[in-house]
Amino acid sequence: MDLARAAIFFCALAVLGMAPAVAAEPAMNASGPDAALVEDLVAANHILYDQGVVDGFGHVSARSAKDPSHFLLARSMAPGLVTAADITEFDLDGNAIDARGRAVYLERFIHSAIYKARPDVKAVVHSHSPSVIPFGATGVPMRPIYHMSAFLAPEVPVFEIRDAGGDATDMLIRTPALGDALAQTLGDASVLLMRGHGDVVVADNVKLAVFRAIYTEINARLESDALRLGNGRVVFLNDDEAAAATKVNNGLVTRAWDLWKQKAMGAK
Ligand SMILES: [Zn+2]
Repeated sequence: MDLARAAIFFCALAVLGMAPAVAAEPAMNASGPDAALVEDLVAANHILYDQGVVDGFGHVSARSAKDPSHFLLARSMAPGLVTAADITEFDLDGNAIDARGRAVYLERFIHSAIYKARPDVKAVVHSHSPSVIPFGATGVPMRPIYHMSAFLAPEVPVFEIRDAGGDATDMLIRTPALGDALAQTLGDASVLLMRGHGDVVVADNVKLAVFRAIYTEINARLESDALRLGNGRVVFLNDDEAAAATKVNNGLVTRAWDLWKQKAMGAK
């Protein structure tokens, strides 16, 4: 068909509401509760980039509200560029349900293994949060230095990939077995450090996971400063203070989320 006829053909399809197969990639087929989740997940990607928790790498996922044995995660790409059309659905073995030929994150097994092991977890952030790295590498425990990071109590475990994958891995959680080992080390904690790599933060909703990922990075910075200033002598929140502060913070997440979202997304 010549160009003029092709144009008429596609116009006719548009009038009939039928998009040709070669049209722009369709948005994820999310409806009901997952439509709102996709919106939050896109905002979460942009906020984490804007706040310096992720850069070109790192990812954030949410357990599907429609099917708890599935989760939503962007295709393999920089978090700051994620749109709703990039969100992909996975099962708890890390298989993409609707990849549509797109590349997926190598480290999706971090997410699948945690959702499998922790029914209470509804959102997961994995990042290479820079200030956190020294804690994973030195064995100096990460502890809550102020009320905003009270969720770090009672303990932040450290995942040593050599224990599960030997001495010559590329440090990535690229297999289900490594994901399972990491989830086991996480246990009931909210944050896990990955030696020589980064961290994982979990919560029972996307906004809280983002909140915790941001304050984990800030806590690491403040704790490093305090350890130097105090020559290693630092008074941290005790477990009772931390539990009380966590209760308050969990009710205030939206205030911070709205501000971060406005800054990261503007009128988007
Ligand atoms: Zn990573």
